[in-house]
Amino acid sequence: MVKVFRTIGEMKNIARDWGRSGLSIGFVPTMGCLHDGHASLIKKSVSQNDKTVVSIFVNPTQFGPEEDLDKYPRDFDSDLELCQNIGVDAIFFPEPSMMYSDNYNTYVNVKQLTNNLCGKSRKNHFEGVCTVLTKLFNIVKPDYAYFGKKDAQQLCVVKRMVEDLNFDLKIIGCDIVRESDGLAMSSRNKYLSSDERAAALCLNKSLNVAKRLISAGKTDVNMIRSEMIEFISKQPLAKVDYVEIVDGCSLQPITCITKPCLIAIAVYIGKTRLIDNFYYE
Ligand code: AMP
Repeated sequence: MVKVFRTIGEMKNIARDWGRSGLSIGFVPTMGCLHDGHASLIKKSVSQNDKTVVSIFVNPTQFGPEEDLDKYPRDFDSDLELCQNIGVDAIFFPEPSMMYSDNYNTYVNVKQLTNNLCGKSRKNHFEGVCTVLTKLFNIVKPDYAYFGKKDAQQLCVVKRMVEDLNFDLKIIGCDIVRESDGLAMSSRNKYLSSDERAAALCLNKSLNVAKRLISAGKTDVNMIRSEMIEFISKQPLAKVDYVEIVDGCSLQPITCITKPCLIAIAVYIGKTRLIDNFYYE
């Protein structure tokens, strides 16, 4: 039976007890409204650890003032059922006021890797992500933490932070889970009308355009980006936020395709901002 903890004290106590008993702890941080993408991370954690903790927390500090914090989809009952079915041991489900007191004043910043891509279009987003993960890692004390490659920049930033700040845990990257037609699963897909849902396929298809060009031996990054942008622009409901091809380690822009590189895109479909990527290695 999955246990639900709403306070930091309760979560810390059980994690400490598990650690003292020599049990390994796998951790999957989420914002809830769980789908098969989240489930793949959770299953991996359950199969690799003695105990698995899933956090469900829509973290206010990683949303900008104009973003969708208030309307972000929430469905605790269905999240609970999914966790129960997979064999999760504990759900950490705190209120924002539990995580951020009125006097809250400490933030964690990873430089450089956050200058580009989502870091550029979502100011302070990664500061919020790194801050909440630091807190969650201190509370849950995991041995392994599982992150999706769908949020490729997040994975890269979190790995850097864990190494730089000597966290005693290992970050595991997990493959992107897609719908059968190729759309990357996302809690934000819930916002899409049926026309928008069809239009959203342009994200994955534009990555396929890039893959085809690369397979055909093209290496000019500007040309590949232009082809992708042109492809997405044919879809009237889509508006490009960014289409970038960057070095796979430093996340800095490159001019010529070399391995490893990351082709990352963010596109508004109507009012919904979706991301997708392809890691070429
Ligand atoms: P979120 O609830 O959106 O913050 O996501 C929680 C975790 O699930 C993050 O590590 C995401 O990268 C991961 N995730 C979300 N969607 C997918 C997906 N389609 N495939 C794999 N991982 C995903």
